[in-house]
Amino acid sequence: MSNKIENILHQKKMKVTPIRLAILNTFSKNTCRPKNAEQVLAQVQKRDNSVNLVTIYRNLISFEESGILRRIDLHQKSIHYELTAHHHHHIVCQDCGEIESFENCDLGALDKKLLKQTKKFKQIKSHSLEFFGQCKSCFKK
Ligand SMILES: [Zn+2]
Ligand SMILES: [Zn+2]
Ligand SMILES: [Zn+2]
Repeated sequence: MSNKIENILHQKKMKVTPIRLAILNTFSKNTCRPKNAEQVLAQVQKRDNSVNLVTIYRNLISFEESGILRRIDLHQKSIHYELTAHHHHHIVCQDCGEIESFENCDLGALDKKLLKQTKKFKQIKSHSLEFFGQCKSCFKK
C-alpha cells in the first residue's frame, strides 16, 4: 500500500515526506471512503499527534492541485476528498450521511449530447455527479 502511495507521489514529482504518506494512506485505494479534513486529521493523529488541522488543509489542497485527490460536495458542512484513481459517483443519505458508490458510469452519452448543444465548449474532460436521498434504515424511522 504505502509503496503505491510513494509511486503516486513520484509520478506527480512531489517529494515523499512522512506527512504526505500518512495523509494519503488514510485514503484507501480500493474502497470509496470520502473524507473531510477533520477525519483525515483524526486518523493521522493516531500515529503522530503533533500534526494539526492547518497542515492537513495545506496538504489536501496541494494534493488536489496535483490531481491526486479530488474534492466532492456531499452537501455537508465540509468539503470531502477522495483519490482520483477511479471514476465513480455517489449516493448520499441526507439524514445520516451514509454513502454508497456507483462504479458503473454511463454518462458518456450525455457528455456527447452536451457537446452537440454547447456553443462555447469544445471538449468535456470530466464530470462529477452525486445523488442525494434517504437510506433504507433512515426511511424506516
Ligand atoms: Zn467515492
Ligand atoms: Zn440514512
Ligand atoms: Zn461518470
